[in-house]
Amino acid sequence: MKEKIQNAMRNIPSMDKILSMPWIGKYEAEIGRDSVKSVISGVLDDQREKIFKDPDVAFDTGKIAAEAEKRLKTRAHKSLRPVVNATGVVLYTNLGRALLAKEAVDAVNSVAANYSTLEYSPETGSRGHRNDHVEWLLCRLTGAEAAIVVNNNAAAVILSLGALAKDKETVISRGELVEIGGSFRIPEIMALSGSRMVEVGTTNKTHLRDYESAITEETAMILKVHTSNFSVQGFTSSVPREELATMAHANDLVFMEDLGSGMLVKMDGPALKGDPTVKECIESGVDLVTFSGDKLLGGPQIGVIAGSACLVDKLRQHQLLRALRVDKMTLAAFEATLRLYLKEETGSIPTFRMINRDAEDMKRQAKRFKRKLSGLLGKTRLRSVFLDVIPVNDTVGGGAFPGSELPGYAVSLKLPELGSTGKLAEKLRLLSVPVITGASEDRLLFHVRTLSEKDEKWILDGFREMFSLNREKAESSD
Ligand SMILES: *Cc1c(COP(=O)(O)O)cnc(C)c1O
Repeated sequence: MKEKIQNAMRNIPSMDKILSMPWIGKYEAEIGRDSVKSVISGVLDDQREKIFKDPDVAFDTGKIAAEAEKRLKTRAHKSLRPVVNATGVVLYTNLGRALLAKEAVDAVNSVAANYSTLEYSPETGSRGHRNDHVEWLLCRLTGAEAAIVVNNNAAAVILSLGALAKDKETVISRGELVEIGGSFRIPEIMALSGSRMVEVGTTNKTHLRDYESAITEETAMILKVHTSNFSVQGFTSSVPREELATMAHANDLVFMEDLGSGMLVKMDGPALKGDPTVKECIESGVDLVTFSGDKLLGGPQIGVIAGSACLVDKLRQHQLLRALRVDKMTLAAFEATLRLYLKEETGSIPTFRMINRDAEDMKRQAKRFKRKLSGLLGKTRLRSVFLDVIPVNDTVGGGAFPGSELPGYAVSLKLPELGSTGKLAEKLRLLSVPVITGASEDRLLFHVRTLSEKDEKWILDGFREMFSLNREKAESSD
């Protein structure tokens, strides 16, 4: 056994042998010789471990080199890079949620590469505050007296609870103890903030009297949380905002709502009914509203707390704010996005545009894209190519409008010679620009709602890459 292991160990290629292979050079240029060495040494270690477990394990230098090259490849290209979202889910959290408007991207560029007025007022030549760039805009657009921004909505909720209800009680309906996105869980957030959670009512019904009987000397806040990612059907009831507000104020309590998605102007369409705008929340008596910048609002990742001036002023004093403060690039993108709302140019905001797309327009796009794909796949050796345009249901995503179905169109594709749909989906994910698709039964789906012209080009280039087709030739004969 021992001898067997020693023999197998001797057959492992040396580091120098792999370093002398011709393809190594390009990886050294990308990530440096030391990083290349450390990747290879990881592969060799794994190989040794395999031999200890099973001295008969089959291996050869070619296989080891291939494994090393595979690992080097993932290190050599940028890890955070664009993908094509062909899923029809407009706010796809794992794919970065909202796309920024061009105006917002330009604003990021100009403050990123230059010094800026981040915390400086040219008028007085003295210190300004980073929050000032967006506060007046938020107030104009929501009717709030004051507003403050932090890193994201989770931070907005933690800061507010910590500043206004620490060591006191916060009353919340059992129907609103939600978990969103796997890591935002109301009970944990509450515990983290130092406020004691008092649950009232039941999962499907909570009445005003449930809240009233829970109020004690220790109560500081009534919290309402938007049940963003699910809906309870059947016999349900919750207390209207106006009633909660009246009750909270009669008892000298803060009434806060975690709205989740910050809808600044009403979106129409049957799928999008029912949710209030931030302004409507504030008008119905909510003292503080918290929401994200990168959901329905269509801006960068940011958390907003908007509402009563005296409460927001308490948040401004809190030490935690320094740790949750927003970066200049985010602020630039946010200010530019809010200005589009101010000018009523919501059509320039990609999230807005994609959610409100016209069905006929998507159908035309799907037909056009199908023709392009068909032309390209006709140049391959594939004998069976199944392409169709079909109606599909898209969604808003990002925990906004649970169960919302946006009627859209997709190009469906099946290439049986390449194996299962799952296999084809994987090949598309592994392209230089990964393409993330939808699927239905045995077909792969390209939902066009979330596809720009550039995305279509990326998909076509991806298929050329997959079939090693010459790009110029393919394009000139299009
Ligand atoms: C999305 C959401 C959050 C978390 O917001 P982030 O900006 O992702 O931190 C919190 N509460 C509700 C109700 C949400 O919908």
